[in-house]
Amino acid sequence: VEQPGKKVRQKSGLNRSILDQGWFSFKTMLAYKLEERGGLLVLVPPKNTSRTCPNCRYISAENRRTQAHFSCIKCGYKENADVVGAINVLRAGHVRLACEMNGAVRLLSAGTQRDLLQQ
Ligand SMILES: [Zn+2]
Repeated sequence: VEQPGKKVRQKSGLNRSILDQGWFSFKTMLAYKLEERGGLLVLVPPKNTSRTCPNCRYISAENRRTQAHFSCIKCGYKENADVVGAINVLRAGHVRLACEMNGAVRLLSAGTQRDLLQQ
């Protein structure tokens, strides 16, 4: 509270906008826009993406003792917590795409993505 970080007002506004619309609407609109403009939406389960070490894959809540900083208690890897989350989400997306190419999971369908929403 005493050190709120940077661009708190902007982040607060973005969060409020997302909450106002709801995550389902946000995902639906994002998928629509990506399809319209030639992108690909890959949904990944968010579980442990902020607590997994990108270096050694060790998962612990203790890896992230503050909102902003990540520090792996196993290997000592340190990074901004948002960067760690982005690395892990990107990695999960690559894994998902690789599994889709191998037929391990169903490809994103054109209309509904209900199978991915239930993860
Ligand atoms: Zn580690």
